Order: sequence, then structure tokens, then C-alpha cells
Amino acid sequence: MMLNAKASDDDVLATLERLDVQRDDPAKRVETVAEYVRLAEFIDPATPTGSERVAFILAFGPRTVDAPLDLFDRAARLSPEPDVVDRAAVAWASISIARGNLSGAEARLWETLRRTRGSGTTSERGACVNLARVLSRQARAQEALLVAGRACVLSEELGDTLGRAAAELASADALVEMGEATAGLARMDAAQARLAGIDHPAADALRITGRQSRLRALRGADRYDEAHALIVELTAEVESLSRGATVWLRGFRAQMHIDRGDIEAAERDVQVALEHAQEDDEPMIEIRVIQARIRHAQQDWPAVIRHGRRAIKAAERLRARLGYARFRLAALIPILREAGAPDVAQRCAELAAEERLQQIVAIDRCAREMPEFCVVRREDRELLVQTRTRFLEEQRECLAQLTTLLEVGTDPGNDRVDVFAPNDDGMVRVCAWCTRVATVGGRWLPLGHLMPPSGEIRVTHGMCAECRQDASQALPDDVR
Ligand SMILES: [Zn+2]
Repeated sequence: MMLNAKASDDDVLATLERLDVQRDDPAKRVETVAEYVRLAEFIDPATPTGSERVAFILAFGPRTVDAPLDLFDRAARLSPEPDVVDRAAVAWASISIARGNLSGAEARLWETLRRTRGSGTTSERGACVNLARVLSRQARAQEALLVAGRACVLSEELGDTLGRAAAELASADALVEMGEATAGLARMDAAQARLAGIDHPAADALRITGRQSRLRALRGADRYDEAHALIVELTAEVESLSRGATVWLRGFRAQMHIDRGDIEAAERDVQVALEHAQEDDEPMIEIRVIQARIRHAQQDWPAVIRHGRRAIKAAERLRARLGYARFRLAALIPILREAGAPDVAQRCAELAAEERLQQIVAIDRCAREMPEFCVVRREDRELLVQTRTRFLEEQRECLAQLTTLLEVGTDPGNDRVDVFAPNDDGMVRVCAWCTRVATVGGRWLPLGHLMPPSGEIRVTHGMCAECRQDASQALPDDVR
């Protein structure tokens, strides 16, 4: 046995060394990459030789189902080559998002951004693009739009068409999450047009993730027939990715069925999602929410309440982690009220509001650390403003909780949330043009959507420095 194992180790070593020579031959590139990937577990990214092999896989290898996720994970931690560390981290995160590991991806992307920030490299751009994708999926669309905007700027500077397409796709995702599905679809089409004719594994990966984005957009735009056709096409492909991807897709399908009133089909999909989900998965919150919506459609009130409680339990379990999916609980507030359980609805509102509060703290911290993320692109500004009314309407209940939380601060001992900077009259200033809010330290942050309905926090409208500059540039010279 030992001898055999030794002999096969030698074989592997010999094969790897042969590949190291062969990789200089562009004609054999596809074959070389495939062989490296097959032997991924034998590659040690902590050594310079191993690190070079990883760099080659990162440059030419697959980014989808067949990508060596574990090798990228090790390289992101152990490679002696900083560039390989960053690129492996971004690739790992990108694949993890597709597989449904959002919190893991987010943590690693922030880490990468802290390292690469201001470098103007493809790693910095890649980290921004993927971070924007994570934020969109976590219903943190405003941050997502800003981070994607930053990625657009970086790709322009790099003259990177592929990166530009990826960044536009990420910003389109954010728009869809904001409820601007039609604008999102237009941006997606533009991004796919940029991708046409680019022969690169990263472009292939984008075409695939782009279709998942398109699916969400089609549902958002009520274009169900097209969404249905696309979902049939995508199911096998997405479900081969991983357990997490299956949970996401089935949950999504179930919601589409509920929208169309096909409750039986929704139940079947939720069942499949449940079979693949694990209790402490982030998507568990969403699955419980979907179950409650199904029972709501059947007017089975006790079951609505039961699933509502389960959703709360899942959310409380996730509290220690990032668990941004908590915000999904906001969708339960009206139906739990209707089911005659105002106390359970109240708890949902509290948890959802608490998550929003954490988001404010996170945006504030991010703005302090990386002010480049506070710049709203002109083309995004109007869309942000449009979203505000609908957002306030939809989130009224949980925003009322937010007001209470803002008054008392967060958990005792934790940093109190005092990001809003009131003027002398105690009124919070909101820019009437871009809806950003004046915060302590003079920054204008994109928190407009999160402001509680007026009257609960006193708001006065102003104009931020950037909008003032834009406005003055738009005026003819003699008026300025
Ligand atoms: Zn402004």
C-alpha cells in the first residue's frame, strides 16, 4: 500500500512538472489547465512553484462548476505572492456567491479590498464587482449600486472591457433589487453586448451569472413567460453547482409560482429547497418566509404564524453572523398582522429594523475607511431618488422600529448609532437631489431610503456639495 501510494505521488509530481513546462505552449493551454485542475489537491500554493500553478489556473481556468474552489481558498490564505492571494480571493468569492455562501464571500471581499484599495488593479476591480453582487443579494441595494459604480470607474481606468461588463451587470443587479427592474434589464443588455465576442473563462462565467441576474430582473418586471422559459433552461445548470445554489433557485421558483397563484407548484419547490437546506443556512430565513406566504395564500392562519415563528428563529440563530437576510422578515409583517399575531409581526419588525441599523453602521464605517464608495455616479442618482418613495411605503413598519432603535442606540455597550448629523434645530439634512443624508464628520451618505417616514425623524432638505457643483456647472456662465 505504502509503495503504491508513493509511486502515485511520484506520478503526480512528474505530471505536474511536465505541465509546468507545457504551460508555455498556448496551443496546449486548455489541456494544461484541465490537467492542473484535476490535480488541484496536490498543488501546494504556499510554495513559489505551487503559487505559479495557481496563477496559471486563475488566468485561464474555469470559474464555474469545475473551478477548484478549495485550491483558491488555500491560495488566498497561503500564497507567498500577494497578487495570487488577491486574485485567488476574488475568484473564490465569485464562485462562493454562485453557490449561495454570501457571508463568507462578503468577509473575504472586504479583506481583499482593504489590501488592494487604491491599487487600481484588476483585483481591486474584481473585489468591487463581487462585493456589489453580494450586497444586491442581501437586499443592500444602495451600497451595491455605489460599490458597482466604483467598479465601473476602475474598469474605465484600466481600459478593461470585460471588467466594465462585469461592473455594469453588478449595478444592474442592484437596480433590480431596488425595484427598478426595467432599468436593470436595459443595463444587462448593454453589458451582454460588451461581452459578445470575448473569448475568456471569466466572460463565460459572466454569461452564466448574467442569466441568473436576468431571471431576477424578469420577475421584477412581471415578465413571467420569459422568466419561466429562462428558469427551465437554468435549473439543471444551477443545480449542478451546489446545494446552496439549489436552495436559492428553488426558493426563487417558489416565489414566482406564488406571484402567479400556482400554490401547489410553489409547495413542491419549497419542499426541494428544504431538502437541500441546512438549519443555520442564511437562505433558511427566506424559505420560512416563502412557506408563510404559501399558507397566507391558502388562508391557513395558524400555519402562517407557525412559519413566521420559524423564520424568526432562523433569523435569531443567524444574528451572531452577518445574517443580512434578516431583512427579509419585513415581508412577513403585514401577513402576520392579518393572521392575527401582532406580537409576532412586531418581532419581525424589530429584527428587520435591527439589521437596517447595522447596515447604517456598516455604511458609515465603510465610508470612513473607503470614502471612494460614497460617490454616486450621475446616471445612478435619479434612480436612487425614484426608489425612495416606494421603499418608504413598503418599509413603513420596520422604519418605525428603526426610529425607536435610533433613539435608544444599539445594544448597551456597543457603539451608539449617531451617524445622522442634525443641524442646530435638531433636523437631519437630506440632499433633495441625490437623497443622501448629512452625517457626523461632514460626509453625505446614501441613507435616504432608510430614513423613517417624515415626522418621526425631523428632516430638512438641503443640497450636498457635489450636487451643488453639478448644478452650477449646468448653468450658463453668466448666471453662475
Ligand atoms: Zn446630493
